[in-house]
Amino acid sequence: MNGLNRSFKSPEFYRRAESYKLLPLRFMRFDGNRYFVSGMGGEYLFMERSKLEQVVQGKVSTTDPLYADLLASHLIADEDSDIYRELVAAKYRTRQSRLPDWTALHMFVTTLRCDHSCQYCQVSRVSEDRSSFDMTPEIASKAIGLMFKSPSPCIKVEFQGGESLLNFDLIRYVVSEVKTRNDGRKLEFVITTNLANLTDEMLDFAEEHRISFSTSLDGPETLHNKNRPRPGKNSHGKTEEGIRRIRTRLGSQAVSALMTTTVSSLEQPKQIVDEYVRLGFDSVFLRYISPYGFAVKSASKIGYETEKFIQFFKEGLAYILELNKQGIFFRETYTQIILQKILMPGASGYIDLQSPAGIGIGGIVYNYNGEVYASDEGRMLAEMGDKTFKLGTVDDRYEKLFLNSPLLAMIHESMVEGVPGCSDCAFQTYCGTDPVFHHRTQGDFIGHRPSSAFCHRNMEVIRHIITLLEDDKEVSTILKSWL
Ligand code: SF4
Repeated sequence: MNGLNRSFKSPEFYRRAESYKLLPLRFMRFDGNRYFVSGMGGEYLFMERSKLEQVVQGKVSTTDPLYADLLASHLIADEDSDIYRELVAAKYRTRQSRLPDWTALHMFVTTLRCDHSCQYCQVSRVSEDRSSFDMTPEIASKAIGLMFKSPSPCIKVEFQGGESLLNFDLIRYVVSEVKTRNDGRKLEFVITTNLANLTDEMLDFAEEHRISFSTSLDGPETLHNKNRPRPGKNSHGKTEEGIRRIRTRLGSQAVSALMTTTVSSLEQPKQIVDEYVRLGFDSVFLRYISPYGFAVKSASKIGYETEKFIQFFKEGLAYILELNKQGIFFRETYTQIILQKILMPGASGYIDLQSPAGIGIGGIVYNYNGEVYASDEGRMLAEMGDKTFKLGTVDDRYEKLFLNSPLLAMIHESMVEGVPGCSDCAFQTYCGTDPVFHHRTQGDFIGHRPSSAFCHRNMEVIRHIITLLEDDKEVSTILKSWL
Protein backbone atom coordinates (compact mmCIF):
# COMPACT_ATOMS: atom_id res chain seq x y z
CA MET A 1 0.00 0.00 0.00
CA ASN A 2 2.81 2.39 0.93
CA GLY A 3 4.58 1.58 -2.32
CA LEU A 4 1.41 2.47 -4.25
CA ASN A 5 1.11 5.81 -2.47
CA ARG A 6 4.68 6.72 -3.31
CA SER A 7 3.92 6.52 -7.07
CA PHE A 8 1.48 9.48 -6.82
CA LYS A 9 2.27 13.15 -6.24
CA SER A 10 0.63 14.81 -3.25
CA PRO A 11 -2.89 16.30 -3.71
CA GLU A 12 -1.29 19.72 -3.37
CA PHE A 13 0.60 19.11 -6.58
CA TYR A 14 -2.65 18.80 -8.55
CA ARG A 15 -4.49 21.65 -6.84
CA ARG A 16 -5.17 24.52 -9.24
CA ALA A 17 -4.13 27.90 -7.95
CA GLU A 18 -6.11 29.82 -10.55
CA SER A 19 -9.45 29.09 -12.08
CA TYR A 20 -9.01 28.75 -15.82
CA LYS A 21 -9.78 25.99 -18.27
CA LEU A 22 -7.36 24.60 -20.79
CA LEU A 23 -8.54 24.88 -24.37
CA PRO A 24 -7.41 22.16 -26.82
CA LEU A 25 -3.65 22.60 -27.15
CA ARG A 26 -0.67 20.59 -28.32
CA PHE A 27 2.98 21.04 -27.47
CA MET A 28 6.40 19.76 -28.44
CA ARG A 29 9.99 20.41 -27.48
CA PHE A 30 11.28 22.84 -30.09
CA ASP A 31 14.93 23.13 -29.07
CA GLY A 32 16.86 23.06 -25.79
CA ASN A 33 14.40 23.96 -23.04
CA ARG A 34 12.10 25.80 -25.47
CA TYR A 35 8.62 24.33 -25.95
CA PHE A 36 6.25 25.18 -28.78
CA VAL A 37 2.59 25.29 -27.72
CA SER A 38 -0.20 25.73 -30.26
CA GLY A 39 -3.98 25.81 -30.19
CA MET A 40 -6.70 24.82 -32.65
CA GLY A 41 -6.97 28.38 -33.93
CA GLY A 42 -3.34 28.33 -35.09
CA GLU A 43 -1.87 30.74 -32.52
CA TYR A 44 1.25 29.61 -30.75
CA LEU A 45 3.52 30.53 -27.84
CA PHE A 46 7.01 29.51 -26.81
CA MET A 47 7.72 28.77 -23.16
CA GLU A 48 10.13 26.89 -20.96
CA ARG A 49 9.21 23.47 -19.66
CA SER A 50 8.59 24.65 -16.08
CA LYS A 51 6.12 27.26 -17.37
CA LEU A 52 4.39 24.69 -19.56
CA GLU A 53 3.97 22.46 -16.52
CA GLN A 54 2.40 25.37 -14.65
CA VAL A 55 0.03 25.99 -17.55
CA VAL A 56 -1.27 22.43 -17.76
CA GLN A 57 -1.53 22.15 -13.97
CA GLY A 58 -3.69 25.28 -13.87
CA LYS A 59 -1.14 27.17 -11.82
CA VAL A 60 -0.46 30.29 -13.85
CA SER A 61 -1.44 33.32 -11.81
CA THR A 62 -3.68 35.97 -13.34
CA THR A 63 -0.95 38.48 -12.48
CA ASP A 64 1.62 36.56 -14.53
CA PRO A 65 2.08 38.26 -17.97
CA LEU A 66 1.87 34.76 -19.48
CA TYR A 67 -1.77 34.56 -18.39
CA ALA A 68 -2.80 37.33 -20.78
CA ASP A 69 -0.76 35.75 -23.59
CA LEU A 70 -2.44 32.38 -23.01
CA LEU A 71 -5.86 33.99 -23.14
CA ALA A 72 -5.03 36.01 -26.28
CA SER A 73 -3.64 32.90 -27.99
CA HIS A 74 -6.78 30.92 -27.14
CA LEU A 75 -4.86 28.31 -25.20
CA ILE A 76 -6.84 28.84 -21.98
CA ALA A 77 -10.28 30.22 -21.12
CA ASP A 78 -11.55 32.01 -18.03
CA GLU A 79 -13.51 29.59 -15.94
CA ASP A 80 -16.70 31.65 -16.04
CA SER A 81 -16.82 32.43 -19.78
CA ASP A 82 -17.69 30.41 -22.87
CA ILE A 83 -16.58 33.11 -25.27
CA TYR A 84 -13.06 31.69 -25.72
CA ARG A 85 -14.34 28.28 -26.68
CA GLU A 86 -16.70 29.84 -29.17
CA LEU A 87 -13.85 31.90 -30.63
CA VAL A 88 -11.71 28.79 -31.13
CA ALA A 89 -14.66 27.05 -32.81
CA ALA A 90 -15.17 30.06 -35.09
CA LYS A 91 -11.49 30.03 -36.06
CA TYR A 92 -11.59 26.30 -36.82
CA ARG A 93 -14.71 26.79 -38.94
CA THR A 94 -12.99 29.62 -40.83
CA ARG A 95 -10.01 27.41 -41.62
CA GLN A 96 -12.41 24.78 -42.98
CA SER A 97 -14.60 27.26 -44.85
CA ARG A 98 -13.74 25.72 -48.24
CA LEU A 99 -15.52 22.46 -47.37
CA PRO A 100 -19.16 23.41 -48.15
CA ASP A 101 -18.07 24.55 -51.64
CA TRP A 102 -16.81 21.05 -52.39
CA THR A 103 -14.81 20.49 -55.60
CA ALA A 104 -13.57 23.62 -57.36
CA LEU A 105 -10.69 22.16 -59.43
CA HIS A 106 -11.59 19.87 -62.36
CA MET A 107 -8.68 18.37 -64.30
CA PHE A 108 -9.24 17.05 -67.82
CA VAL A 109 -6.52 14.72 -69.13
CA THR A 110 -6.81 15.61 -72.80
CA THR A 111 -4.27 13.01 -73.94
CA LEU A 112 -1.47 10.78 -72.71
CA ARG A 113 0.59 11.61 -75.79
CA CYS A 114 3.73 13.65 -75.23
CA ASP A 115 6.77 14.80 -77.18
CA HIS A 116 8.98 14.75 -74.05
CA SER A 117 10.33 11.70 -72.23
CA CYS A 118 11.07 13.18 -68.81
CA GLN A 119 12.83 10.94 -66.33
CA TYR A 120 10.36 11.73 -63.56
CA CYS A 121 7.23 11.86 -65.69
CA GLN A 122 4.33 10.92 -63.50
CA VAL A 123 2.15 9.48 -66.21
CA SER A 124 2.91 6.71 -68.65
CA ARG A 125 3.11 8.80 -71.78
CA VAL A 126 2.89 7.19 -75.18
CA SER A 127 4.34 8.31 -78.48
CA GLU A 128 2.77 11.30 -80.19
CA ASP A 129 0.83 9.41 -82.84
CA ARG A 130 -1.25 7.12 -80.60
CA SER A 131 -4.53 9.02 -80.78
CA SER A 132 -6.31 6.19 -78.99
CA PHE A 133 -4.93 7.84 -75.86
CA ASP A 134 -6.88 11.05 -76.54
CA MET A 135 -10.01 12.10 -74.65
CA THR A 136 -13.01 12.23 -76.98
CA PRO A 137 -15.68 14.99 -77.01
CA GLU A 138 -18.25 12.38 -75.83
CA ILE A 139 -16.22 11.62 -72.70
CA ALA A 140 -15.51 15.31 -72.14
CA SER A 141 -19.21 16.15 -72.43
CA LYS A 142 -20.12 13.64 -69.70
CA ALA A 143 -17.28 14.98 -67.50
CA ILE A 144 -18.60 18.52 -67.92
CA GLY A 145 -22.03 17.31 -66.82
CA LEU A 146 -20.51 15.86 -63.63
CA MET A 147 -18.48 19.02 -63.10
CA PHE A 148 -21.59 21.21 -63.03
CA LYS A 149 -23.08 18.97 -60.32
CA SER A 150 -20.42 20.33 -57.94
CA PRO A 151 -21.84 22.97 -55.57
CA SER A 152 -18.73 25.14 -55.93
CA PRO A 153 -19.51 28.71 -57.08
CA CYS A 154 -16.06 28.83 -58.71
CA ILE A 155 -14.98 26.24 -61.24
CA LYS A 156 -11.38 25.93 -62.37
CA VAL A 157 -10.86 23.76 -65.45
CA GLU A 158 -7.29 22.57 -65.81
CA PHE A 159 -6.10 20.75 -68.94
CA GLN A 160 -3.49 18.08 -68.23
CA GLY A 161 -1.57 15.46 -70.18
CA GLY A 162 0.66 13.87 -71.44
CA GLU A 163 1.11 17.09 -73.35
CA SER A 164 -2.33 18.66 -73.27
CA LEU A 165 -1.81 20.86 -76.37
CA LEU A 166 -1.42 17.75 -78.57
CA ASN A 167 -5.21 17.42 -78.31
CA PHE A 168 -5.98 21.10 -78.74
CA ASP A 169 -9.27 20.43 -80.54
CA LEU A 170 -10.60 18.91 -77.33
CA ILE A 171 -9.49 21.97 -75.34
CA ARG A 172 -11.46 24.12 -77.80
CA TYR A 173 -14.48 21.88 -77.40
CA VAL A 174 -14.38 21.85 -73.57
CA VAL A 175 -13.92 25.62 -73.24
CA SER A 176 -16.80 26.37 -75.58
CA GLU A 177 -19.07 23.71 -74.04
CA VAL A 178 -18.33 24.79 -70.46
CA LYS A 179 -19.11 28.41 -71.31
CA THR A 180 -22.34 27.44 -73.04
CA ARG A 181 -23.51 25.21 -70.19
CA ASN A 182 -22.34 27.51 -67.39
CA ASP A 183 -25.10 28.16 -64.89
CA GLY A 184 -23.59 31.28 -63.35
CA ARG A 185 -20.33 29.96 -61.87
CA LYS A 186 -17.11 31.94 -61.90
CA LEU A 187 -14.96 30.13 -64.47
CA GLU A 188 -11.20 29.84 -64.82
CA PHE A 189 -9.24 27.90 -67.44
CA VAL A 190 -5.60 26.79 -67.19
CA ILE A 191 -3.58 24.80 -69.71
CA THR A 192 -0.74 22.75 -68.23
CA THR A 193 1.81 22.34 -71.00
CA ASN A 194 5.50 22.06 -71.81
CA LEU A 195 4.91 24.87 -74.39
CA ALA A 196 6.90 23.10 -77.14
CA ASN A 197 3.82 22.88 -79.39
CA LEU A 198 2.37 26.34 -78.77
CA THR A 199 1.07 28.00 -81.94
CA ASP A 200 -0.25 31.48 -82.71
CA GLU A 201 -3.70 29.97 -83.22
CA MET A 202 -3.61 28.59 -79.68
CA LEU A 203 -2.53 31.96 -78.35
CA ASP A 204 -5.42 33.64 -80.21
CA PHE A 205 -7.82 31.20 -78.58
CA ALA A 206 -6.26 31.68 -75.13
CA GLU A 207 -6.50 35.44 -75.50
CA GLU A 208 -10.14 35.29 -76.59
CA HIS A 209 -11.14 33.07 -73.65
CA ARG A 210 -8.73 34.46 -71.02
CA ILE A 211 -6.96 31.14 -70.55
CA SER A 212 -3.73 31.05 -68.56
CA PHE A 213 -0.82 28.62 -68.83
CA SER A 214 1.17 26.57 -66.35
CA THR A 215 4.48 25.13 -67.52
CA SER A 216 7.47 23.20 -66.22
CA LEU A 217 10.82 24.88 -65.68
CA ASP A 218 13.41 22.88 -63.79
CA GLY A 219 16.18 25.48 -63.78
CA PRO A 220 19.06 26.50 -66.05
CA GLU A 221 19.26 25.09 -69.57
CA THR A 222 21.60 22.16 -68.89
CA LEU A 223 19.64 20.92 -65.87
CA HIS A 224 16.24 21.44 -67.51
CA ASN A 225 17.25 19.63 -70.71
CA LYS A 226 18.77 16.76 -68.73
CA ASN A 227 15.54 16.31 -66.74
CA ARG A 228 13.24 16.89 -69.70
CA PRO A 229 14.58 15.26 -72.90
CA ARG A 230 12.79 15.79 -76.21
CA PRO A 231 13.80 15.40 -79.87
CA GLY A 232 16.18 18.26 -80.67
CA LYS A 233 17.30 18.44 -77.01
CA ASN A 234 15.80 21.93 -76.87
CA SER A 235 13.11 21.73 -74.19
CA HIS A 236 14.49 24.71 -72.28
CA GLY A 237 14.66 26.90 -75.38
CA LYS A 238 11.09 25.97 -76.34
CA THR A 239 9.84 26.71 -72.81
CA GLU A 240 11.61 30.06 -72.63
CA GLU A 241 10.30 31.04 -76.05
CA GLY A 242 6.76 29.98 -75.08
CA ILE A 243 6.88 32.00 -71.85
CA ARG A 244 7.98 35.08 -73.79
CA ARG A 245 5.23 34.70 -76.43
CA ILE A 246 2.50 34.21 -73.84
CA ARG A 247 3.60 37.26 -71.87
CA THR A 248 3.73 39.37 -75.01
CA ARG A 249 0.19 38.38 -76.01
CA LEU A 250 -1.58 37.79 -72.68
CA GLY A 251 0.40 39.72 -70.06
CA SER A 252 3.04 38.83 -67.50
CA GLN A 253 0.70 36.97 -65.12
CA ALA A 254 -0.70 34.64 -67.80
CA VAL A 255 1.99 32.00 -67.35
CA SER A 256 3.34 30.32 -64.22
CA ALA A 257 6.00 27.66 -63.86
CA LEU A 258 6.68 24.66 -61.63
CA MET A 259 9.97 22.88 -61.03
CA THR A 260 10.63 19.33 -59.90
CA THR A 261 13.69 18.56 -57.80
CA THR A 262 15.76 15.64 -59.08
CA VAL A 263 19.08 14.43 -57.73
CA SER A 264 20.73 16.65 -60.36
CA SER A 265 18.94 19.69 -58.90
CA LEU A 266 20.21 19.19 -55.36
CA GLU A 267 23.54 20.92 -55.99
CA GLN A 268 21.98 23.88 -57.79
CA PRO A 269 19.43 25.67 -55.57
CA LYS A 270 20.92 29.11 -56.31
CA GLN A 271 21.16 28.48 -60.04
CA ILE A 272 17.51 27.37 -60.13
CA VAL A 273 16.38 30.49 -58.27
CA ASP A 274 18.56 32.68 -60.51
CA GLU A 275 16.94 31.16 -63.61
CA TYR A 276 13.46 31.97 -62.32
CA VAL A 277 14.57 35.53 -61.54
CA ARG A 278 16.20 35.86 -64.98
CA LEU A 279 12.98 34.80 -66.68
CA GLY A 280 10.96 37.40 -64.79
CA PHE A 281 9.09 35.18 -62.29
CA ASP A 282 8.54 36.51 -58.77
CA SER A 283 8.43 33.09 -57.11
CA VAL A 284 9.63 29.51 -57.33
CA PHE A 285 8.09 26.38 -55.83
CA LEU A 286 10.95 24.16 -54.59
CA ARG A 287 9.06 20.89 -55.06
CA TYR A 288 9.88 17.42 -53.81
CA ILE A 289 9.74 14.67 -56.44
CA SER A 290 6.59 12.52 -56.26
CA PRO A 291 6.95 8.73 -55.92
CA TYR A 292 4.70 7.91 -58.88
CA GLY A 293 4.98 6.88 -62.50
CA PHE A 294 8.36 7.04 -64.16
CA ALA A 295 9.73 8.71 -61.03
CA VAL A 296 9.57 5.26 -59.43
CA LYS A 297 10.87 3.33 -62.43
CA SER A 298 13.99 5.52 -62.57
CA ALA A 299 14.17 6.23 -58.83
CA SER A 300 17.78 5.11 -58.55
CA LYS A 301 18.79 7.64 -61.22
CA ILE A 302 16.79 10.68 -60.10
CA GLY A 303 15.63 10.01 -56.52
CA TYR A 304 17.23 11.16 -53.24
CA GLU A 305 16.71 11.01 -49.50
CA THR A 306 14.33 13.41 -47.77
CA GLU A 307 17.22 14.82 -45.72
CA LYS A 308 18.98 15.92 -48.91
CA PHE A 309 15.83 17.63 -50.13
CA ILE A 310 15.46 19.49 -46.82
CA GLN A 311 19.05 20.73 -47.13
CA PHE A 312 18.35 21.83 -50.73
CA PHE A 313 15.14 23.56 -49.64
CA LYS A 314 16.88 25.45 -46.82
CA GLU A 315 19.71 26.56 -49.09
CA GLY A 316 17.27 27.73 -51.76
CA LEU A 317 15.17 29.61 -49.20
CA ALA A 318 18.27 31.23 -47.62
CA TYR A 319 19.34 32.46 -51.05
CA ILE A 320 15.86 33.83 -51.79
CA LEU A 321 15.90 35.70 -48.47
CA GLU A 322 19.31 37.15 -49.44
CA LEU A 323 17.82 38.39 -52.72
CA ASN A 324 15.00 40.04 -50.77
CA LYS A 325 17.53 41.76 -48.51
CA GLN A 326 19.10 43.17 -51.71
CA GLY A 327 15.70 44.60 -52.71
CA ILE A 328 14.56 41.85 -55.11
CA PHE A 329 11.01 40.78 -54.20
CA PHE A 330 10.93 37.04 -54.75
CA ARG A 331 9.09 34.26 -52.87
CA GLU A 332 9.31 30.54 -52.29
CA THR A 333 5.81 29.15 -52.78
CA TYR A 334 5.78 26.31 -50.22
CA THR A 335 7.06 28.72 -47.56
CA GLN A 336 4.29 31.11 -48.53
CA ILE A 337 1.68 28.34 -48.12
CA ILE A 338 2.99 27.39 -44.65
CA LEU A 339 3.23 31.06 -43.62
CA GLN A 340 -0.37 31.57 -44.60
CA LYS A 341 -1.40 28.64 -42.43
CA ILE A 342 0.62 29.95 -39.47
CA LEU A 343 -0.22 33.63 -39.68
CA MET A 344 -3.55 33.99 -41.48
CA PRO A 345 -7.00 32.94 -40.31
CA GLY A 346 -8.51 31.84 -43.64
CA ALA A 347 -8.64 28.55 -45.53
CA SER A 348 -5.66 27.55 -47.64
CA GLY A 349 -6.30 27.04 -51.35
CA TYR A 350 -3.40 24.59 -51.73
CA ILE A 351 -5.06 21.18 -52.01
CA ASP A 352 -1.98 18.99 -51.41
CA LEU A 353 -1.55 20.04 -47.75
CA GLN A 354 -4.96 20.01 -46.16
CA SER A 355 -7.03 18.10 -43.66
CA PRO A 356 -9.44 16.69 -44.68
CA ALA A 357 -7.28 15.79 -47.68
CA GLY A 358 -8.03 17.69 -50.89
CA ILE A 359 -8.60 14.47 -52.87
CA GLY A 360 -11.97 14.53 -54.58
CA ILE A 361 -13.32 17.41 -52.51
CA GLY A 362 -10.58 19.88 -53.56
CA GLY A 363 -9.87 18.61 -57.04
CA ILE A 364 -10.94 15.75 -59.29
CA VAL A 365 -9.48 14.20 -62.45
CA TYR A 366 -11.30 13.03 -65.57
CA ASN A 367 -8.86 10.74 -67.32
CA TYR A 368 -8.60 10.58 -71.13
CA ASN A 369 -10.50 7.23 -71.13
CA GLY A 370 -13.41 8.40 -68.97
CA GLU A 371 -12.15 7.10 -65.64
CA VAL A 372 -12.60 9.48 -62.70
CA TYR A 373 -9.87 9.79 -60.08
CA ALA A 374 -9.76 11.45 -56.67
CA SER A 375 -6.51 13.23 -57.52
CA ASP A 376 -3.87 13.61 -60.18
CA GLU A 377 -1.47 11.51 -58.10
CA GLY A 378 -4.19 8.83 -57.88
CA ARG A 379 -4.42 8.86 -61.66
CA MET A 380 -0.62 8.52 -61.94
CA LEU A 381 -0.73 5.56 -59.58
CA ALA A 382 -3.38 3.97 -61.82
CA GLU A 383 -0.98 4.21 -64.77
CA MET A 384 1.32 2.02 -62.63
CA GLY A 385 -1.48 -0.53 -62.22
CA ASP A 386 -2.92 0.54 -58.85
CA LYS A 387 -6.47 1.86 -59.24
CA THR A 388 -7.18 2.42 -55.53
CA PHE A 389 -8.07 6.07 -56.14
CA LYS A 390 -10.39 5.46 -59.07
CA LEU A 391 -13.86 6.65 -58.02
CA GLY A 392 -15.71 5.41 -61.10
CA THR A 393 -16.25 6.64 -64.65
CA VAL A 394 -17.96 9.58 -66.34
CA ASP A 395 -20.93 7.24 -66.92
CA ASP A 396 -21.59 7.06 -63.17
CA ARG A 397 -23.98 9.31 -61.32
CA TYR A 398 -22.43 12.18 -59.36
CA GLU A 399 -23.86 10.83 -56.09
CA LYS A 400 -22.23 7.45 -56.68
CA LEU A 401 -18.83 8.98 -57.41
CA PHE A 402 -18.77 11.19 -54.35
CA LEU A 403 -20.95 9.56 -51.74
CA ASN A 404 -21.00 5.90 -52.63
CA SER A 405 -17.35 5.36 -53.46
CA PRO A 406 -14.16 4.73 -51.46
CA LEU A 407 -13.66 8.52 -51.32
CA LEU A 408 -15.29 9.15 -47.95
CA ALA A 409 -13.22 6.45 -46.25
CA MET A 410 -10.01 7.88 -47.74
CA ILE A 411 -10.86 11.33 -46.43
CA HIS A 412 -12.15 10.19 -43.07
CA GLU A 413 -9.23 7.89 -42.26
CA SER A 414 -6.58 10.42 -43.13
CA MET A 415 -7.74 13.48 -41.17
CA VAL A 416 -4.82 14.78 -39.09
CA GLU A 417 -7.04 15.19 -36.04
CA GLY A 418 -7.29 11.40 -35.80
CA VAL A 419 -4.09 10.12 -37.39
CA PRO A 420 -1.67 8.57 -34.88
CA GLY A 421 1.24 10.99 -34.54
CA CYS A 422 -0.56 13.93 -36.12
CA SER A 423 -3.28 13.98 -33.46
CA ASP A 424 -0.70 15.09 -30.87
CA CYS A 425 1.52 17.13 -33.17
CA ALA A 426 1.89 20.81 -32.33
CA PHE A 427 2.27 21.58 -36.07
CA GLN A 428 -1.03 19.92 -36.93
CA THR A 429 -2.87 23.16 -37.82
CA TYR A 430 -0.16 24.14 -40.32
CA CYS A 431 0.23 20.72 -41.89
CA GLY A 432 -2.07 18.37 -43.80
CA THR A 433 -2.41 14.89 -45.03
CA ASP A 434 -1.68 12.91 -48.18
CA PRO A 435 -3.47 9.55 -48.39
CA VAL A 436 -2.15 8.85 -51.91
CA PHE A 437 1.48 9.32 -50.84
CA HIS A 438 1.04 7.15 -47.74
CA HIS A 439 -0.85 4.48 -49.65
CA ARG A 440 1.98 4.41 -52.21
CA THR A 441 4.89 4.49 -49.77
CA GLN A 442 3.53 2.83 -46.62
CA GLY A 443 0.60 0.70 -47.74
CA ASP A 444 -2.44 2.49 -46.27
CA PHE A 445 -4.13 5.91 -46.27
CA ILE A 446 -2.90 6.74 -42.77
CA GLY A 447 0.76 5.77 -42.90
CA HIS A 448 3.27 5.60 -40.06
CA ARG A 449 4.38 9.09 -39.13
CA PRO A 450 7.77 8.32 -37.50
CA SER A 451 8.95 6.76 -40.78
CA SER A 452 6.93 8.90 -43.20
CA ALA A 453 8.93 11.05 -45.66
CA PHE A 454 5.89 13.35 -45.93
CA CYS A 455 5.92 13.94 -42.17
CA HIS A 456 9.70 14.26 -41.95
CA ARG A 457 9.73 16.86 -44.71
CA ASN A 458 6.85 18.91 -43.33
CA MET A 459 8.06 18.70 -39.75
CA GLU A 460 11.47 20.07 -40.76
CA VAL A 461 10.13 22.71 -43.13
CA ILE A 462 7.54 24.03 -40.65
CA ARG A 463 10.12 24.03 -37.84
CA HIS A 464 12.56 25.93 -40.07
CA ILE A 465 10.00 28.54 -41.08
CA ILE A 466 8.93 29.12 -37.46
CA THR A 467 12.59 29.47 -36.45
CA LEU A 468 13.09 32.09 -39.17
CA LEU A 469 9.96 33.93 -38.05
CA GLU A 470 11.00 33.95 -34.40
CA ASP A 471 14.75 34.34 -34.41
CA ASP A 472 15.55 36.92 -37.10
CA LYS A 473 13.62 40.18 -37.19
CA GLU A 474 14.71 41.24 -40.67
CA VAL A 475 13.86 37.82 -42.14
CA SER A 476 10.55 37.78 -40.26
CA THR A 477 9.59 41.09 -41.85
CA ILE A 478 10.48 39.79 -45.31
CA LEU A 479 8.49 36.58 -44.81
CA LYS A 480 5.43 38.50 -43.64
CA SER A 481 5.66 40.69 -46.75
CA TRP A 482 5.08 37.56 -48.86
CA LEU A 483 1.51 37.22 -47.63
S1 SF4 B 1 2.43 14.89 -40.86
FE1 SF4 B 1 3.98 15.07 -39.24
S2 SF4 B 1 4.37 17.30 -39.10
FE2 SF4 B 1 2.41 17.01 -40.16
S3 SF4 B 1 0.85 17.09 -38.54
FE3 SF4 B 1 1.37 14.93 -38.86
S4 SF4 B 1 2.95 14.51 -37.30
FE4 SF4 B 1 2.82 16.76 -37.54
